Parts: sequence; structure tokens; C-alpha cells
Amino acid sequence: MFNHIFVNGKLLIESKAGIPVRDRGFLYGDGLFETLRSYKGFVFMLDSHLERLFHSLKILKYNLPFDKEYIKEALKKTINKNNLAGKDAYIKIIITRGIHSGELHFSRKYEPSLIIITDILNTYPERDYTEGINIASSSIRRSSIGNPLYSHKLLNYFENIFAKDEAHYNRAQEAIFLTKDHLVLEGASSNIFYVKGNTVYTPPLTQNILPGITREVVIDICNENRIKVRQKKIHYRDIINADEAFKTSSIAGIVPVKKIDRFALAGEIPGGITARLMESYISKVELSNLH
Ligand code: PLP
Repeated sequence: MFNHIFVNGKLLIESKAGIPVRDRGFLYGDGLFETLRSYKGFVFMLDSHLERLFHSLKILKYNLPFDKEYIKEALKKTINKNNLAGKDAYIKIIITRGIHSGELHFSRKYEPSLIIITDILNTYPERDYTEGINIASSSIRRSSIGNPLYSHKLLNYFENIFAKDEAHYNRAQEAIFLTKDHLVLEGASSNIFYVKGNTVYTPPLTQNILPGITREVVIDICNENRIKVRQKKIHYRDIINADEAFKTSSIAGIVPVKKIDRFALAGEIPGGITARLMESYISKVELSNLH
């Protein structure tokens, strides 16, 4: 069966789906995206993803011919068309500013494009969850604060894929961005947590990081289960000396870390608190599926 892509109101066979070459998403990476996951057809945290997307659209001055309900309907149609109802799917919602008219500023003339891609989910190897993954620090140093663009999921993702490639070269499954003062910010496509004693730590949203949806779910789970969680600046030396560490993202959920650069974490993988959080996360997914 052919995969269909939603492009500006139409469901097109993938080989025929496209956007004009003058679209600013293609020319300048002028667009936003959300990556989501459905579990047995249920899209987890859909409202939160749409909330983050629409917040960014507003801040970054996109003109909007559609609302959240329209996207929800379009998503449902795309999932059904691709026979993914009841299945685990990978979902990508993309909004670009529209076709470039020559003005680089965010003109009111632009009409955004909406593209939705759905596919059967390629899950990560089970051993990532049972044995943990390696993460490698990127050679790119970010500033710690002061660049609000990092709080938006911009199409312009080159820094992230560059870091992923460096990590791949270093036999790591994820890259982390540090500041020049060795503060840990986030992964190339994930947020980063560590555990020391009985407390879970993650960098605050005042740092140059994405407000991850899974990050928020994990903080909620900690609060609901009386696990101490603190949002504070994290130094590289904190994470390499941690009892446990893990990364979070919508596609992969919670994934334990076993090694950071050449430093192997000392404890069991996944550690006790990480294992509890992984279990609670799965329960939360299953519970929201029932609603
Ligand atoms: N940080 C970055 C840079 C990301 O690209 C992602 C997801 O792709 C995340 C964090 C995790 O965000 P979420 O939990 O919303 O998937």
C-alpha cells in the first residue's frame, strides 16, 4: 500500500507529494515541526504538542489559516488513510511560513503550509532500554542562555544533525550539547536527566533548551510519586559522576544512559529510579490510551 502525506488539505501519494521549491521551509528552514508518537492508534500528549507548536507559531509571527482542531482532524485522516489506526506510528507535523516573496522579514503576506507525515514506527532496539546507550558531547558549544530560538522546534535542525553525526562517529546513540563552561544543556533530539542519591536533576527552561513534552511528563511523574526532582544548572562533572542518567523524547520515551564520552556510569542499568520512571511512563501512556 502507498503511504500518503497530508499537504495543504490534500492526501497525496508520497511519490507525488511535494511543496514548491520557493517555500521558505526549504529555502531557509523557516518553519516548525513536532514529532509525535501514537501507541496503538492513540497519539500520546497530542494537546501538549499542539500547545507548544501554536505557542511558537505565535511568538515567531506565522500567519495562521488553521487552528488546532483542523490539525487534529487532518492528523486523524492521515492516520486512517495510512492504515495506522490501532498501531504504533511515527508522526511528524510540519508548518512552514509559505512561499518566499522576496522579503526576508516575517511579512503578513505569507500563507503557511501544513504537512503531516505518518509512518509505521521503527522502535529502538530493546537493548537500549535494558543495557543503556552511550552519549557523546558535541564539539559545538552553545551559550547557556540568551537564545530563545532553542525553545522552538525549528525546521532548521542542522546543528542537531551535525551533532548526531559526530555521536555516530564516536559510537554513541545520542549527542549532548555543552556550553563552553561545561554546563550540560540537552541532547541533539532529547532532554537530559541524571539521578544522584534520591534526587532527579534536569536543566531549567531558562537555559537554551527545548521545553520537551516528555521532560514535562517525567517531572510530573516524579511529583506524583514523591520522587524529588530539581531543575538546576548541570555541570558535566555532575553527570559523569551521577548514579544514573537518562534521556527523554516523544519517540523513544525514557532511555537509560550507560556511558558519557569515556566515562561509564558506575551503577546498574537502568538504575532504580530510572527503572521506576520508565515503568510509570508506560503506565501513563496506557492510562491515557483508555481516555
Ligand atoms: N530537545 C531537542 C533538541 C529535540 O529535538 C527533542 C525532540 O526531538 C527533545 C529535546 C525532546 O522533546 P520531546 O520530549 O518533546 O520529544
